[in-house]
Amino acid sequence: EKTSVTVLGLGAMGTALARAWRTAGHPLTVWNRTPARAAALAAEGVRVADSAADAVAANTLVVVCLLDDTSVGEVLAGADLTGKDLVNLTTSTPDQARARAGWARKRGARYLDAGVMAVPPMVGTADAGGYVIYSGSRELFERHQETLGVPLGTTYVGEDAGFAALYDVALLSAMYGMFAGAAHAFALIRREDIDPAALAPLLADWLVAMAPTVHHTADQLRHGDYTRGVVSSLAMQVAGAPTFLSTAEGQGVSTELLSPYFDLMRRRLAEGGGEEDLTGVIDMLVRRPTPH
Ligand code: NDP
Repeated sequence: EKTSVTVLGLGAMGTALARAWRTAGHPLTVWNRTPARAAALAAEGVRVADSAADAVAANTLVVVCLLDDTSVGEVLAGADLTGKDLVNLTTSTPDQARARAGWARKRGARYLDAGVMAVPPMVGTADAGGYVIYSGSRELFERHQETLGVPLGTTYVGEDAGFAALYDVALLSAMYGMFAGAAHAFALIRREDIDPAALAPLLADWLVAMAPTVHHTADQLRHGDYTRGVVSSLAMQVAGAPTFLSTAEGQGVSTELLSPYFDLMRRRLAEGGGEEDLTGVIDMLVRRPTPH
């Protein structure tokens, strides 16, 4: 028998999640502040609750996908959470997630926080590669893993309820760094008679080819040895920096995205990191000492 699910919040993401469970045959109860957004699901035979509290009362597994942490507090304020398995797919900060976990525990609920690494069209499409990062109650995760895996893939990253949000932000931050690099690359060719579509496939392949270097970085961080298996020394890379900066100048392109990174590289070199890879730059960013 398929687990019954309550979904609170029928925005773009909540609706996609609810539809994936419905399609897979899970009995569903949904609620949304603006009732009109539940109409399509109602027409598909999904039970629409009159209030958030009623929706929570209907099932043990309660999935929340609202705008932000404040709306989660508002929506669940009047609901009895005793004995509930609360899964929060609302984007929040690690601190908000930890506070929400304590808040839920006090109300007698098990709590799992989540970061959604997908956009709505990827939901319910296994080969699209979207997944959800979970952290918090391991017991809740293991009990409902199969159900949670219906709309998107699942990854559990630990008992700390803040970790899912932290991983989420880490992945998206890296994505923005990648977008920034790609923006600079396109800017460089902008004034030439170069079709952006000629650069794009090379750029995509290059980013994919470079992506596995993160494993090398992790290996150096774990061993606390940034000279371990060095491929391209920092000294060599800093020596090459003027090529990038002067090419940008020559193309009439601002270096404002590139310069901050080169500045960090130069500072690390000045502190004696010339024989390292770029891993030492990470320590230049960390303002507080790491706990271990
Ligand atoms: P939408 O803007 O489409 O929907 C927001 C939902 O939150 C609606 O159901 C809205 O209700 C509800 N809501 C907002 N404020 C309140 C409130 N004060 N009280 C009650 N309900 C409220 O957002 P998405 O569905 O796209 O996103 C939902 C969550 O999923 C967000 O945290 C987002 O960061 C995350 N997410 C979204 C992704 C995306 O690509 N869409 C990707 C990854 C994560 P109403 O209809 O009444 O306004």
